[in-house]
Amino acid sequence: MRKTIIAGNWKMYKTIKEAIELANGLKRELFKLDNQGIDVVLCPAFTALSEVSEVISESDIMLGAQDLYWQDEGAFTGEVSGKMLKDAGCSFVIIGHSERRQFFGETNETVNKKIKAALINALTPILCVGETLKEREAGKTLDVLKDHVQNGLREIGKEDVLKLVIAYEPVWAIGTGKTATPAQAQEAHKYIRDLLVKLYDQEVAAQVRIQYGGSVKPENIIELMQQPDLDGALVGGASLQVESFADIVKKAAEVIK
Ligand code: PEP
Repeated sequence: MRKTIIAGNWKMYKTIKEAIELANGLKRELFKLDNQGIDVVLCPAFTALSEVSEVISESDIMLGAQDLYWQDEGAFTGEVSGKMLKDAGCSFVIIGHSERRQFFGETNETVNKKIKAALINALTPILCVGETLKEREAGKTLDVLKDHVQNGLREIGKEDVLKLVIAYEPVWAIGTGKTATPAQAQEAHKYIRDLLVKLYDQEVAAQVRIQYGGSVKPENIIELMQQPDLDGALVGGASLQVESFADIVKKAAEVIK
């Protein structure tokens, strides 16, 4: 049985003060929830990690970062390592988000190095994969997913792959208000799961959690969560307000009851 995971990607939003307010609000809302069947992860900007970690320390809510560098330390100006994220209280880290692939030159090779670094530092990687609109329209969606999954997971053994989470995020649905239909999302998730059978085995495919990301809102989370291969959501815009993110978590919890 795969535990549902809902993560909020706060991107480059929220000052430290605002991040503390949001985390406090979510703690209040989600404490009321019997969310035993659900993992909730907040991924603020680096600057707010320690403070958010403190706010959520006595709750079940967990902390994630939005990226990391693959070396533990060194002369790498501007970078943050897995070791540092662990120290700041993180247990998750988003890797290969499409905004990093699009704007910051992230490739399957760097993604793969970052996944290995996260695992070494006992951080759960959330590996983001997904096609652009152009790739979808050219009928290349499944080829892109294969490329991102297979190359992102290069030399990652079975024991390690069982620890990670995959997020299917069609680029055309991120921040656009366009959500993949539940059927489109299910098709991609099923394809990734079948790929895991080929790359590893049935046990891995049955256990690895696959989140959907792309304009998830309280209005569409139920339909999405009803798909058999969807194990949760990676939420951007709607994770920036207490009400909408808490609502998404509560609705997801209703579906899995
Ligand atoms: C994301 O940032 O991963 C994301 C899915 O964003 P949004 O929910 O705003 O589309």
